[in-house]
Amino acid sequence: MRQPSRRAFIASAAGALGAAALWAFRLPVSVVKASGNSGSVTIVQFSALGKPIGKVTVPRVVKPDAEWKQQLSPVSYQVARHAGTERAYTGNTWNNHERGIYRCICCDNALFSSDTKFESGTGWPSFWQPIAKENVIEAGDESLGMSRTEVRCRECDAHLGHVFDDGPRPTGLRYCMNSAAMKFVKTA
Ligand SMILES: [Zn+2]
Repeated sequence: MRQPSRRAFIASAAGALGAAALWAFRLPVSVVKASGNSGSVTIVQFSALGKPIGKVTVPRVVKPDAEWKQQLSPVSYQVARHAGTERAYTGNTWNNHERGIYRCICCDNALFSSDTKFESGTGWPSFWQPIAKENVIEAGDESLGMSRTEVRCRECDAHLGHVFDDGPRPTGLRYCMNSAAMKFVKTA
């Protein structure tokens, strides 16, 4: 049993180093500002009732890791800031059937609507489309020996989950999200 635990230690050390490198890369805010608009993002804002208000350009939300850790619950911090995955059937919204919108746990950016939520049987809240394509980022993820597409919040870069192409109509997509990365806001 010593070999796996040592490997686990090395993996977590590498993860910590990777996170440190990422933050080091992000720290010079003045450099980001100097290079033009890269410090801003354009998203679609939604009202408290879940209605689209329009596109707005807002500063990208960037905080030190320690600040995120203080702001978030341990599971939300691991999922959203360190690309973790909550255990299936443990989140608070996989079986939620109320009408409302799902916002980013980190920055409140609107991400998904109950209108596109469906029963995936996975134990994770699943949607066939984001509330606005502008509000998320989709990027290749080759971690854990799999080729997947990661979904992140456009405004604060939080990890939300992955998108797969085995979803229902009309898009055929399955946005497999983590409850811990989102907060549900009832609209009806
Ligand atoms: Zn966010």
